[in-house]
Amino acid sequence: MPEPLPTPCRVCGGDTGTRQDDVWHCARCGWRLGDAPDADLPLPRVDVVYYLRYRDRVKIGTSATPRRRLTAIMHDEVLAFEPGDRTVEQRRHREFAELREGGEWFTLTGPLAAHVDEVRDRFGDPWPAYDRWLGDALRRLSS
Ligand SMILES: [Zn+2]
Repeated sequence: MPEPLPTPCRVCGGDTGTRQDDVWHCARCGWRLGDAPDADLPLPRVDVVYYLRYRDRVKIGTSATPRRRLTAIMHDEVLAFEPGDRTVEQRRHREFAELREGGEWFTLTGPLAAHVDEVRDRFGDPWPAYDRWLGDALRRLSS
């Protein structure tokens, strides 16, 4: 049962968590509150392939800074994230080449719609998934 955190999570900005033996864990990304990352260190790089819907089309792109990147692209909905960089992105572009409308935009139908559903089932809602991956990467860095 998540409770309000004494201070917001430094990793994802989450404000609820669970306490175990006086140690708080962020409910969103799982980061341990006392293990605040050094503010002077950059956050680790986590590349994601994003699926961004605008009307009946979806843009398949990649970014290491999705929060910043996605504010610059007109869209209705972030459908899904999957872990991966340009290699994965290029593979998806080839995989769904027949649905390509131009640039990185594809028609959201058939096999692409099924793939997006599969990614969502596997990794869950995109932003909490991203926060989890960021938390995992930080824990790896600091251990
Ligand atoms: Zn967090």
